[in-house]
Amino acid sequence: MYSLTICHLYPDILNLYGDRGNVIALQKRCLWRGIDVGIQNISLGRPFSAEQCDILFIGGGQDFEQEIMLEDFYKQHEEIKRYVENDGTVLAICGGYQMLGKYYETEEKLIELPGVINIETKSSKKRLIGNLVFEWVHNQTGESYRAVGFENHSGLTYLGEGVDPLGKVVKGFGNNGEDGYEGARYKNVFCSYSHGSLLPKNPHLADYILSCAFKKKYPDAPELQELNDREELEANRSMIKRLLK
Ligand code: GLN
Repeated sequence: MYSLTICHLYPDILNLYGDRGNVIALQKRCLWRGIDVGIQNISLGRPFSAEQCDILFIGGGQDFEQEIMLEDFYKQHEEIKRYVENDGTVLAICGGYQMLGKYYETEEKLIELPGVINIETKSSKKRLIGNLVFEWVHNQTGESYRAVGFENHSGLTYLGEGVDPLGKVVKGFGNNGEDGYEGARYKNVFCSYSHGSLLPKNPHLADYILSCAFKKKYPDAPELQELNDREELEANRSMIKRLLK
């Protein structure tokens, strides 16, 4: 019996826009395949253990909430960095994405961060809000897909050396509204500004993230079986049709 553990960091603090829907989507897509799933909710004071985690999820939050979790995040960052450098799978959304970087500048202050990945987030007076469509490429198959979501952030994120974008903006702002990139990729870390939540309407991306974790834990297992994603893909297509007409 295959099993995966999803560790949800700060679920009671970084919980904006129903981002926990990503955890539910990953959980369901495992259970539909007969893969057992454990979920660990890790908030202030509970240590994160790289050995116990197969997929680490961090959701979005307001600046205020990002400061609440900062002290605890610093205590956890070395273990998180070890997990990332050992090809642990991560999905980080918006505020959670920003917190993985070297600093996060708000309108009031500069928040120094542990730098789990090489990104920087600067403040802007303008909020980047709206529906988001971005094109991403599956590194193993070379297939490209259009993902849909929703963004609401004032932070402008810039990718440093060694960090690639998750995709290219088709509609919306993405990382900073300037360079045309959305999100970030580093090893098995997937970052996006897209709420929505991101994964339910983007099943190929959900399975890409899932397969990274599954293959790392079970390298000799067969590929994940295909699921009937009729509804998910119809939701994706109808949003893209509405947003790009
Ligand atoms: N507080 C951050 C910003 O405004 C992240 C917001 C979010 O997670 N939606 O940029």
